[in-house]
Amino acid sequence: MTSKNVKPKKIILFIAALILLLLWARKPEQLGAAYSETEFLMDTLVTITVRGVGEEDAKTYVRAAFDEMGAVDEEMARREGTPLYKLNKAGGGALSQSMATVIAASIHWAEASGGAFDPTVAPLIDLWRVKDEPHPPPAAEDIADLLTGVGYLAVSFGADEKSIELNGRVLDLGGVAKGYAIDRAVKVLKDAGVGNFIVNAGGDLFVKGDKGERPWRVGIAHPRKPGELFAIVEPREGAMVTSGDYERYFIWEGKRYHHIIDPKSGYPAEGISSVTVTAPTAMAADAVATAVFILGAEQGLAFLEGTQGAEGMVISSTGEAVKSSGFDHAAPEASSR
Ligand code: ADP
Ligand code: MG
Repeated sequence: MTSKNVKPKKIILFIAALILLLLWARKPEQLGAAYSETEFLMDTLVTITVRGVGEEDAKTYVRAAFDEMGAVDEEMARREGTPLYKLNKAGGGALSQSMATVIAASIHWAEASGGAFDPTVAPLIDLWRVKDEPHPPPAAEDIADLLTGVGYLAVSFGADEKSIELNGRVLDLGGVAKGYAIDRAVKVLKDAGVGNFIVNAGGDLFVKGDKGERPWRVGIAHPRKPGELFAIVEPREGAMVTSGDYERYFIWEGKRYHHIIDPKSGYPAEGISSVTVTAPTAMAADAVATAVFILGAEQGLAFLEGTQGAEGMVISSTGEAVKSSGFDHAAPEASSR
């Protein structure tokens, strides 16, 4: 044996060198640390978290992703001066690529949901003023009046969907724009080669990859217990979006009035308190969640079963949860690891 020729001191030195080498080799693992930033955007807190890239790169990519979401908001919010505002004011006109994409998707989901989702509900949203202080609900006659000016079928696209005529309709893209903004941020991160990230806009999110030792884990808010979670899930790669009646609402004489308007009745949709939908894109998940909310539990679940790539969980106003057949696969509940 040669071991007796090796001095203990040498062995210690060897081990020390080995430890240093291991530490050095592990250094790229530091890239495993997640980098995250939060901003207030589109009326909600948006957190973008990336993992697996150096901190400098992470900062650059996260910034670019936020810029992308900000640009969507600048274009598609209804506040004065935005391109959507101008389009509505002019009754139509030429569309940017992004605007054409989002409006076409809105019309698609309007058709697919039998008119439950309808981007022309804008006049009713303005009438209800859900974001204002609690106030009496609008008069039934006023609602009936405005309903005659709602309906996506009146809207017509020009050739190649590069322009649009609103024909008296007013567009509100609030049911899909956040999802679209998330998708745009996702594209920035994917194009930059980021393999692990989560873009979370107030619970509407897209995940890719993992958190390192375990999958990304996200909470689904409890619709009736503020600050509490209904479930914690580990969504597979893709989008997960929740529509609820518990964030934007007012209570008047004991009744809750929220921001998702049934285009058939003109009143806030009843029966559901929260819908969580998974889909390959956040825009689809966003539109489908809003649609299911309006359709109600029974029809909403049927719609989910018939919509390829989408799964969902509905929590009724009375608190029961019902899931579409593939929801547990798309967003399994977090195990207690
Ligand atoms: P959040 O924006 O809170 O995530 P949703 O995705 O459900 O919630 O979108 C609600 C928004 O969608 C409303 O604030 C409004 O701008 C718009 N909206 C309301 N009712 C409808 C509807 N029937 N179809 C399409 N969009 C709607
Ligand atoms: Mg939506």
